[in-house]
Amino acid sequence: MSEQQTQHAAFGRPIPAPPVSLETEEFWKRARDGRFAIKRCVSCQEAFWYPRAICPLCHSSETAWEDSPGTGTVYTYSIVRTFPTGPFAIGFVTLDEGPLVLTNFVDFAEGDLAIGKRVKVRFVATDNDGPPAPVFGPA
Ligand SMILES: [Zn+2]
Repeated sequence: MSEQQTQHAAFGRPIPAPPVSLETEEFWKRARDGRFAIKRCVSCQEAFWYPRAICPLCHSSETAWEDSPGTGTVYTYSIVRTFPTGPFAIGFVTLDEGPLVLTNFVDFAEGDLAIGKRVKVRFVATDNDGPPAPVFGPA
C-alpha cells in the first residue's frame, strides 16, 4: 500500500470490497485501470448514476458506458467525527454530466470541505483485494 493510500485510510475508513455483479463488472474493470465510468441512455441521452442496465429516467434498456473525467461539485456533506478509525466525511457530488453520486470525501484539510467546492474522483484500495473504490477529493 502506498503512502498516499495509507493517508486515505487514516482520514477515511476502511472500505469493504464492493460486490461485483454482471451489471457493474465493466465499471470495476475500468476502475482497476484508474478510469471512472458512468452510463448514458442511448434513448433519452441522459447520464445517470449508479451504473445499471436500465435507464432510471425513461426505462430504456439501451444504455452505454462512457468514461467520465470524474469532476463535479460538492452538493452536500456530513463529517462523522466519532468513529473507531477516526473522522470521515461522506456526501453527494454533482458530476459535471449531471448525476448525483453518494461518496466518501478524502484529502480535505479540516474546514476545507464545503458545499460548491470543485472535486475530482480518485480511487482507493478496498478490503480483501477488491476493486478500487471511487472517492472524491479537491480538484
Ligand atoms: Zn433514458
